[in-house]
Amino acid sequence: MSPIPMLSFHDWLVELRREFHQIPERGYREEKTSAKIRQVLDQLNVNYRSAVGKTGVVARLKADQAGPLVAYRADMDALPLEEANDVPYKSQHKGMMHACGHDGHVTVALGIIRWLEERDWHRKGRGEILFFFQPAEEGGAGAKAMLDTGLFDQEPVKAIFASHMNPELPVGKVELIYGTAHAATNTIRIKIKGKGGHGAAPHLCVDPIVAGAHLLTQLQTFASRSLCPLDSAVLSICEFHAGTAENIIPEEAVLNGTLRTFTPEVRELALRRIEEMVKSLDLTFGATTTLVNTEGYPAHINDSKMVDHLKDCVGEVLGVDAAHISRPKMGAEDFAYFCQKWPGAMIGLGCHDPAKGFQYALHSPHFNLDERVLDVGVQLMGYALVQFIEKAQSR
Ligand SMILES: [Zn+2]
Ligand SMILES: [Zn+2]
Repeated sequence: MSPIPMLSFHDWLVELRREFHQIPERGYREEKTSAKIRQVLDQLNVNYRSAVGKTGVVARLKADQAGPLVAYRADMDALPLEEANDVPYKSQHKGMMHACGHDGHVTVALGIIRWLEERDWHRKGRGEILFFFQPAEEGGAGAKAMLDTGLFDQEPVKAIFASHMNPELPVGKVELIYGTAHAATNTIRIKIKGKGGHGAAPHLCVDPIVAGAHLLTQLQTFASRSLCPLDSAVLSICEFHAGTAENIIPEEAVLNGTLRTFTPEVRELALRRIEEMVKSLDLTFGATTTLVNTEGYPAHINDSKMVDHLKDCVGEVLGVDAAHISRPKMGAEDFAYFCQKWPGAMIGLGCHDPAKGFQYALHSPHFNLDERVLDVGVQLMGYALVQFIEKAQSR
C-alpha cells in the first residue's frame, strides 16, 4: 500500500476534529458546530453566508482568474447515541455522539479550504468553489432545506463532490460507486384495529395480533414474488406493538417499518403491493386498517463522469490500487438532493487503522476513525476540486 500522504497541518486537523467531536448536535440544532465553522472561516479569511437551511453555512472561495464553479458538501449533524469510547475528546453532550463521522467531514472541508489557501489557489488557480456545511443529514433532509432556500438556483454549479467516512476500508483506500449508490426510503406505518376481548373467547373478538402476524409474513413475499429477481428492495418491519396482558385480545396492533428501493418503478410497485396486502386484512379478518406511507430520501445517484473523475484523482493522489468499486447500498444519503440538482459524486474514505483488522461500524457507540483519514480527505478532495476546474476549463 502506498504511504499515507500527511499534511504539515495534520495536528490542526486533529485538534479541529476533536473539538467538533466533543460538541455533537442534532439535525437543525448544530449551533455550536456552525459557530465553530464560522470562526475557522473567519480565521481563514473566507466569505460565507450563514443560517442557510436553519444552521447551514455556505462558504465561497473565488480565484482571481475566472473559471467554472464547483461545489463540495460536508454534513455536520450527530446522532442521539451515548458514546462508548473512552477517549480524552469524548462527547461532552450527553446522549449525543458523532457516530457517523460527520465531525470528520466538516474538518475535511475546512482542511480543503486551508490547503487551497496555503497553495495560494486564489491567485494561481481559477474559478470558484462553494462549500456547503449542511445540517440534518440523519433523517432531516438538510440538503433539501439548503436547496429549497432558492439561493443556489442561479448558481452554474458544474459538479458537486462529497466524501463520507467508511470504516470498512483502511485509511488510504477509498470506495466509489457508479450510478445508484444509496436507496430511496419510505417509512411505513400500519395500524390494525380489531375488536378486543377475552383471550378465552376469540370468536367474539377480531384479533389484531393474528391479523398483524399474517400481514408481517405476507409483506415479505412482495420482494420474492412480485419483484423481478434482478431488482432489489427491502422491507423491514422493525416495530410490532400490541397487547397489555396474556389473556386480553387487544383492540389494536401497530406495525412500523422501512422500505428501501433503488428505482421509482420498484418503489411504486412495492408501495402498491403493501397497500393491497394491508387492505386485504379488512376482508380476511374483519379488521379496520390504516396505512401511512411517508416518503424519505430519494435514491442517491452518482454521475458516472464525476465518479470517473474521482477515480482518476484517487489514482494520482493515493495510487491506482486505492480505489474499490462497490455495489449500491441500501442505506440512504441526502446528498441525493444535491445530485438531483447538479452532476455529483460521493466517495467513501477508508478510515480504520490498517494495523487493526476490525473497526466498529458507522452509528456504533464505539465508532472512531484513524485521524490520518483527514489528511487523505483534504488532499484527495482538494485535488479533485482543483483538477475538475482545470479539466473543465481546458475543454
Ligand atoms: Zn449516518
Ligand atoms: Zn453520515
